[in-house]
Amino acid sequence: MPGIDFTTVRQRITMAEVLGRLGFQPTSVRGEALRGPCPVHRSASPGSRSFSVHLGLGRYRCFRCGSRGNALELWAAAHRLSLYEAAVTLCQVVGVEVPWITRW
Ligand SMILES: [Zn+2]
Repeated sequence: MPGIDFTTVRQRITMAEVLGRLGFQPTSVRGEALRGPCPVHRSASPGSRSFSVHLGLGRYRCFRCGSRGNALELWAAAHRLSLYEAAVTLCQVVGVEVPWITRW
């Protein structure tokens, strides 16, 4: 299994892009800070504000399930994937090339 350059994946894929692909609908917006239902534990109520995300920092956290991290980690947590699987599927969904690390 070839390696993946995770740094490049993180640089190419923004938090806004991941939120869009997850169908995230914020219930509150303050500049780049959004709150809303959590795509990781799948908040039952669409009016939930347990999930907090900052677009500029590219970080999220949920006060309910405790999940937190960057855009790639959010994609992995929401789909129950390993970081490796998350990087591959996310690149495919967004339409960027997977930055494989080729070893000589
Ligand atoms: Zn949560």
